[in-house]
Amino acid sequence: MQTTFTADQLEQPDVAHSEGIIRKCVHCGFCTATCPTYVTLGNELDSPRGRIYLIKEMLENDRPADEKVVTHIDRCLSCLACMTTCPSGVNYMHLVDHARAHIEKTYERPFADRMIRKILSLTLPYPARFRASIQLARLGRPFAGILDGIKPLKPLAAMLRLAPASLPAKSAVNTPGVRKAAGERVKRVALLTGCAQSVLDPKINEATVRLLTRLGVEVVIPEGEGCCGALTHHMGQEDAALDFARRNVDVWTKAIAEGRLDAVVITASGCGTTIKDYGHMLRLDPAYADKAAKVSALAKDVTEFVADLELPAPRDVGPIIVAYHSACSMQHGQKVVRQPKALLSKAGFAVRDVPEGHLCCGSAGTYNILQPQIASQLKARKVKNIESVMPNVIATGNIGCMTQIGSGTKIPVLHTVELLDWAFGGEKPAVLG
Ligand code: SF4
Ligand code: SF4
Repeated sequence: MQTTFTADQLEQPDVAHSEGIIRKCVHCGFCTATCPTYVTLGNELDSPRGRIYLIKEMLENDRPADEKVVTHIDRCLSCLACMTTCPSGVNYMHLVDHARAHIEKTYERPFADRMIRKILSLTLPYPARFRASIQLARLGRPFAGILDGIKPLKPLAAMLRLAPASLPAKSAVNTPGVRKAAGERVKRVALLTGCAQSVLDPKINEATVRLLTRLGVEVVIPEGEGCCGALTHHMGQEDAALDFARRNVDVWTKAIAEGRLDAVVITASGCGTTIKDYGHMLRLDPAYADKAAKVSALAKDVTEFVADLELPAPRDVGPIIVAYHSACSMQHGQKVVRQPKALLSKAGFAVRDVPEGHLCCGSAGTYNILQPQIASQLKARKVKNIESVMPNVIATGNIGCMTQIGSGTKIPVLHTVELLDWAFGGEKPAVLG
């Protein structure tokens, strides 16, 4: 795509980076066919190509974001299916990240929208606050129907409905410390315990620590880890996201200095995509650029890491059909496609692919709160596709997808690592009876 940025504009590194991305787009439109919002809404401006045009116009003309741009960028899930499809290698992720930061700096959102985004950024990334806010949301749930009738407050209604009916107790697994390898130590890793996931489903980290230590891996949970920054990053709150990133880079740099670190293991693929991008996010910060690039190079999804370990023979798990839902951040963001399914098969499960597997389930960080209508259409489509393969259990690698899909089906949803832990010597997940 031809661009007309001035030399002065191109002096700004983020504009220069976006210009390079825009120029790669050849308007072919292949990406529209796999874009969930285009497939759902049928509007060119809700397709990757349409959004690239809107962003180009806004940035080239040095314009503040307007309502039209904000509407269509807000509807983007950041699922990155377009990046998988694009034959020209357009890095839509970095372009939309830039657009979101520009929106945040130049557009004043309506009051209710601002408040809801503030609440999300002040609660979700902090486990104690998140736990307290879920308890509050449960009390407010009877009012969800009333809020639903007031258009600007629909996201609040969605938030109340998404709050789980009960929360698991706090788990010791998230306490900082070292979990020793059973037997001879073959590897040493740092584990990101995460923010929302550690509250919603601590069984994921428990299964991860059990599996890794059993396989000879020492697991370090460093003091001071926090949210990866993805939630604020996707809302365009760049400074907050970079602060989260810097904090984690410091923590893991210290872990690297204390001894050989083979990986930073991540059990939520949404976080993995962001951490693998720390090197880019902090590239303009001389104090952090190198350290962040090292951390990104060490970041691995748990299935990516386990796939390189020597595995014992699995126990007999019986005839269990697993529908593997590949989270967008896993398949499009990190391109981790083969390993989770290969591991589940090796573990003895009958793995089924889900039709239209490239389409997002509608979770997408805070999307199911901020865009509840599109998110629920995508959820219904995803659940229908999953149920069509008649599985006994659904496996996925992202807590957001687990919550979203789990709220639309009676089929149990587990993290892939919980099934692997069971097959390779751990306990059977309680939901499987
Ligand atoms: S990230 Fe997803 S929703 Fe956004 S333009 Fe790309 S395919 Fe469409
Ligand atoms: S597939 Fe790639 S090159 Fe083609 S329109 Fe979409 S982003 Fe542009």
